[in-house]
Amino acid sequence: MSKIVIVGAGYAGMMAATRLERLAEPFTIINKHAYHYFTTLLHEAAGGRGEPDKYRVDIKEVLAKPSSELVVTEVTGIDRERRVVRTEAGEFPYEYLVFTLGWVPEYFGIPGLAEHSLVLRSLNAAKQIRSHIEREFRQYREDQNPVHLRIVVGGAGLTGVELVGELLDWLPELCMTLGVPWDHVEVQNIEAMPMILPMVAENLREVAARTLTEKGAKLRINTKIVQVTPGRVHLEGGEVVEAGTIIWTGGVRANPLLEQAGFTVDRRGRAKVNEYLQSVDDPHVFVGGDSAWCDGPDGRPYPPTAQVASQMGRAIADNVHALVHGRPMKPFQAHLKGTLASLGRELGVGDMVGVPVKGVVAAVAKEASKVKYLLELGGVRLAAAKSGELVHL
Ligand code: NAD
Repeated sequence: MSKIVIVGAGYAGMMAATRLERLAEPFTIINKHAYHYFTTLLHEAAGGRGEPDKYRVDIKEVLAKPSSELVVTEVTGIDRERRVVRTEAGEFPYEYLVFTLGWVPEYFGIPGLAEHSLVLRSLNAAKQIRSHIEREFRQYREDQNPVHLRIVVGGAGLTGVELVGELLDWLPELCMTLGVPWDHVEVQNIEAMPMILPMVAENLREVAARTLTEKGAKLRINTKIVQVTPGRVHLEGGEVVEAGTIIWTGGVRANPLLEQAGFTVDRRGRAKVNEYLQSVDDPHVFVGGDSAWCDGPDGRPYPPTAQVASQMGRAIADNVHALVHGRPMKPFQAHLKGTLASLGRELGVGDMVGVPVKGVVAAVAKEASKVKYLLELGGVRLAAAKSGELVHL
């Protein structure tokens, strides 16, 4: 029997796994936690929209068939010659490996950034950001030092903007609870480029900037972070911003294990795949999600989004299944349905299949996309169980 091993239970890994279950193809999935979390909603967890644990689902709740095995441990390497996955719990041999270990923060070599900033990279990190801010605000009550009330978010891509929007809905409530003056709070979103959200249309960018500014954000474009020291963000030109909370949302790169295992990678560490999502270096390895460097029909690589990752996961499962049973594989082509950015609990901007949307419509569309994902992942039962907790339509 061929041995299929999936590493990573993010969007790509989970979609590959659920599809393999439906195809009655046995596999082992290795993941650091016994749960899958909704990476696209981590800003909500950090911003206190719901309790952090509502943004996760037990993997065994979704993958319930005896033919699928879950191993909870951390992957430490891939030995391609021996075809084994090395983990903290020992080695796991594979005939076909599905590599979907997602992303790590891209620090661009900026001194002190990794050591002195928080990153919205996991559910635990979201909890950490939330409790860090609460601690800083409590500290303000003790010493009245306004630095405790200053939050710097570095990078105004989708992650930064969604986080800032969410924080600005939550912080007034936190101030009220703690008896801290809201008008002393400062949330700076610092962006090196001349614009926020470069991936959305210009008019929507303006809507996003206006909405966030009206909520109280201080948006600083053309401003590059060059160094971070404890509690201090150093900007190009010499300005230093003191802040109790420093969060980095300046970019992502693929898991470094790919490069370490000798795969051909791009400048963001993603492994090059062919049209079947198979590594160009190794036909026994499929790569999906944020780990994959896969060119779309326009010759540009697909973006590292949950939407693309989910579609890749399904396509990989179909292709591994085909390969195991000696049938032809199918080339992958993503169906890009648009980008939606939330700007807090009730507003958003983006485009749906090319149609620009903003305000409440965009926020409702984003909520609908959550339910769609839950339906795909675990059917009506999971959607009914989780969407009540996540969706506020
Ligand atoms: P990103 O790379 O898209 O944005 C990072 C931003 O940080 C950029 O605008 C960049 O100019 C800025 N930056 C980098 N270095 C800087 C510096 N030294 N000083 C100041 N600013 C700096 O990263 P992201 O927002 O984390 O997104 C990563 C991927 O995830 C993207 O493909 C995105 O589309 C996807 N994503 C999608 C959604 C959604 O669909 N709603 C949400 C979050 C992320």
